[in-house]
Amino acid sequence: MSILWVLGAGQLGAMLKQAGTPIGVDVRPIDIESTDVLPLNAEDIVTAEREEWPDTAATKQLATHNNFVNLATFPQLADRLTQKQWLDRLNLATAPWFPVETDSTAKYAYQMLGDRVLMKRRRGGYDGKGQYWLKESELTEIPDDWKGQAIAEQAINFDEEVSLVGVRGRNGEKYFYPLTLNLHINGILYASISPLERLKPLQTKAEKMLSKLMDTLDYVGVMAMECFRVGDNLLINELAPRVHNSGHWTQAGSSVSQFENHVRAVTNLPLAPSEIKNQSMMVNLIGVDLDHEWLKIKGLELHWYGKEVRPGRKVGHLNFCSNDKNLLQSALKELNLPEPYSEAINWMTENLP
Ligand code: ATP
Ligand code: MG
Ligand code: MG
Repeated sequence: MSILWVLGAGQLGAMLKQAGTPIGVDVRPIDIESTDVLPLNAEDIVTAEREEWPDTAATKQLATHNNFVNLATFPQLADRLTQKQWLDRLNLATAPWFPVETDSTAKYAYQMLGDRVLMKRRRGGYDGKGQYWLKESELTEIPDDWKGQAIAEQAINFDEEVSLVGVRGRNGEKYFYPLTLNLHINGILYASISPLERLKPLQTKAEKMLSKLMDTLDYVGVMAMECFRVGDNLLINELAPRVHNSGHWTQAGSSVSQFENHVRAVTNLPLAPSEIKNQSMMVNLIGVDLDHEWLKIKGLELHWYGKEVRPGRKVGHLNFCSNDKNLLQSALKELNLPEPYSEAINWMTENLP
């Protein structure tokens, strides 16, 4: 069996490896700072757990391998400018925007997009880092180091945030998980719920949007599409050409997780519709210490990433999947997490069916 190398050795790489083991795929996440000479074979496959990477000894070896799946797509989606251009070109709805050029002014931004404008750095942003709000009421100007480096987006007054995770095989076959409802606090994903009956009417529309993208890019593997729901419409917020945090619930809630589906797709193994088991919810562990007392909670599945705990850093997640509504609600009551988790717990309590 050939080896699946993963560029990056964070939690996504670790979970890809965990998913590859039972289906007999040798998945090897590689730290981008590794200086090892990697024993790459011609028939091996390469994938990535991140959208972009610096040139290092490790990434150079991986990125020059002939079987790096989606290699050409990464730079297209890792840069928010080209990502937005793709969305416009394909007529896919997204927040109105313009590129922040060296001569762009805040006045222009307010004229074009309204009195609240969100600048996002073209590269490297995650968990809401790399964002800067322009507010006309506060006469905010565009800082010099954002000029030529960002896009500016209209503030969207969305009803809620949803995401779609899909997988596409080499022959173009595609499968999708049910839409996931997501709660972000300060730009970081705190919690997800899926499936939800009330999101079903949007499923086909969302699948068509993501299909168009994956087919046009001839993409292979798992891709995630984050959306704002505004009434019956979906506006694409951003795309991730990889497994995605809002798909973590599939580890507990689906016969085939997003991680296994990605491994299957990139290694050209059979794909099949996965069976959605029950109601799932996921809680991200952000900046909190490991607490093995959590394990006393019925139905809880802990995924701890083994990273150093820092404020605002994702260090693990909790999955729950059950057909027993009371079990999910009582698990939420038993979770003892610091602020701002009360908001996340209330949100889940209210949104669970
Ligand atoms: P991720 O960790 O998901 O990659 P990111 O740093 O790349 O995050 P975005 O997903 O673009 O950033 O934005 C993070 C969050 O900020 C969104 O989920 C949403 O809550 C809020 N946000 C982003 N764009 C807008 C917008 N145009 N209007 C209002 N809120 C927005
Ligand atoms: Mg992002
Ligand atoms: Mg996002």
